[in-house]
Amino acid sequence: MAIQHEIVLSLAGDLDLKVLVRRYMSTCMRCLSARSVHLHLYLDGIDDVFAAEAKDFQDGRYFAIPRNMPVHPENIDDIRQLLQRWRQQDFRELEPTRIESGDSHYHLFPMSHGAVLILERHKIPLRDSVVQAISPIVEYLQSYCEVALKHGRIVSEVEKRTRAEQRLQHIAYHDDLTGMPNRLYLVEKINEALLAAKQGDWKGALIYIDLDNFRDINDSLGHAVGDQLLQLVGERLANNLTEGEVIARLGGDEFALLVPHLDAHKLSLMAIVESLRDKLKQPFQTPERPLYIAASFGLTVFPGDEEDAVSILRQGDIAMSQVKASGRNDLKFYEPAMDADARARFRLDADMRNALGSDQFQLHLQPQVDQNAQVLGAEVLIRWQHPELGFVSPLDFISIAEKTGFIVPMGQWILHEACRHIALLQQHPETRHWRIAVNISAKQFHQPKFVEMVDSILAQSGVPGSALELELTESTLLDNVEQVIEKMAALRERDIHISIDDFGTGYSSLTYLKRLPVNKLKIDQSFARGVHLSADDSVIVEAIIAMAGRFGLDVIAEGVEDIEDLEHLVELGCDEFQGYYFYRPQPLDQLLESLQLGSS
Ligand code: C2E
Ligand code: CA
Ligand code: CA
Repeated sequence: MAIQHEIVLSLAGDLDLKVLVRRYMSTCMRCLSARSVHLHLYLDGIDDVFAAEAKDFQDGRYFAIPRNMPVHPENIDDIRQLLQRWRQQDFRELEPTRIESGDSHYHLFPMSHGAVLILERHKIPLRDSVVQAISPIVEYLQSYCEVALKHGRIVSEVEKRTRAEQRLQHIAYHDDLTGMPNRLYLVEKINEALLAAKQGDWKGALIYIDLDNFRDINDSLGHAVGDQLLQLVGERLANNLTEGEVIARLGGDEFALLVPHLDAHKLSLMAIVESLRDKLKQPFQTPERPLYIAASFGLTVFPGDEEDAVSILRQGDIAMSQVKASGRNDLKFYEPAMDADARARFRLDADMRNALGSDQFQLHLQPQVDQNAQVLGAEVLIRWQHPELGFVSPLDFISIAEKTGFIVPMGQWILHEACRHIALLQQHPETRHWRIAVNISAKQFHQPKFVEMVDSILAQSGVPGSALELELTESTLLDNVEQVIEKMAALRERDIHISIDDFGTGYSSLTYLKRLPVNKLKIDQSFARGVHLSADDSVIVEAIIAMAGRFGLDVIAEGVEDIEDLEHLVELGCDEFQGYYFYRPQPLDQLLESLQLGSS
């Protein structure tokens, strides 16, 4: 096919320019012994038209249209200067030029309309034979550029490229699901707003938004509904924004609104939050049913002490988390004191992860006794001896581990360690019958493979299920009830006992209780402690005991600290006890010693 003909075809769209060039190059290669020659086509303002798409010219023996240019000519001053000079002249007057720069040799051919063809050789100078061999391509491209640029063909390539870049930009700055700006975008906008606020001496604000009951919706109605809800929420939050405001989805069910300029004449910040709450108040229509949601808001105003967007976001997050911790559906302003708190939590989180394999964690046992003070078993309670902070209470670190999910590996370790203790106890005739209770966090229990995990730990430690009791809280049981029942039944099949911890503080739903295969209720400490002085608590304890009796459940009172409470609890019909009055939680060795059993 004659070159001329091919150009016509190419312009008509039948043959791709690149296919054509490739074919020519391989033809030219046959006359050459050159190892590799790179070919770039430069247009004004954009990079190599070929580079992004040429794939299969990597073979070193061929002319290559490289995917990644080994040397970027735009970075080489000599070439840049020449290009600048050329662009000021009439291209018809330009002559091909050689340039040597660093290790590379370049041959530049002026095309038209500012396009330049650059032949690039690394290390080895371009021989005249190479330049001659490539001349048909050069000529071809010269005429191609002339015609194509006139007809906008190459321009459209440029456009395609620009569009692709814009698209990439969009993907980088937007959230997949909702199409809203994402965290990256927001961070840039906050930084801009921060700078402007400092220079203009005004205030801006960030409102951190976290939906309150989203997880429940996701769990109960499925992810598709959850996704749809997030889209609807995003749409609503983005409605009627004032110019300059940015609403972004940060991930999950977290959003944030940037108010770059809090103008005294405009709505106050509180009014903005109110309008956000109003937007969320109306039910969201999904195919299933209308959904009602609420949210927690963390507010922070800048500029303050913070240096950048990331710390502003963190402040919003911290304030929002405080709302969550104190009952949701509210708003809080960030205060530096919250920071210290968050820092401490952050530190504990990091240290915890490193400590799990070491001996900083230990289990203590607190015996559970009957009315005659005979030990029936014990609850294991984790203790953390931090190398610098000293003793850290589980009340401080379990909640962090639950939030971050670290409770899952940690809980597994605890169960493992508890079973090791059981194995030791089973070596003593006096303690062989003890049942050991282990606290199980909701997140751990809801792991899909929870039962399998328990199985494998029992098998590894050679301990019978009947020696194990799992303490669950009421809130664990309310989530996904069908699955909970299934899991509990599976555990019961293995003779594992199940007790409900802190009973009386949660929902105490009778209907659930009736359906759940539970063995025991643990009356919360708050009722047991001082029960002999409180008529209210007595009534509650009595009711719990009566109800347990009807469902055939055992009852244990925990937090028994003195004889008066104990006697009163006995009167009310309670027959198992746990508390400082009998034993404090302590390491196994110590406990066996105090029971005069000696350690094995
Ligand atoms: P909990 O499960 O309700 O554990 C009972 C808590 O009451 C223990 O505190 C225990 O030391 C304390 N206690 C026992 N008797 C008395 C008493 O007579 N008076 C008073 N004032 N307190 C008494 P601890 O060990 O600090 O644990 C606190 C909470 O941390 C536990 O509450 C439990 O929710 C959690 N926790 C502790 N160990 C573990 C564990 O291994 N796994 C999980 N998931 N949570 C744990
Ligand atoms: Ca417990
Ligand atoms: Ca408890």
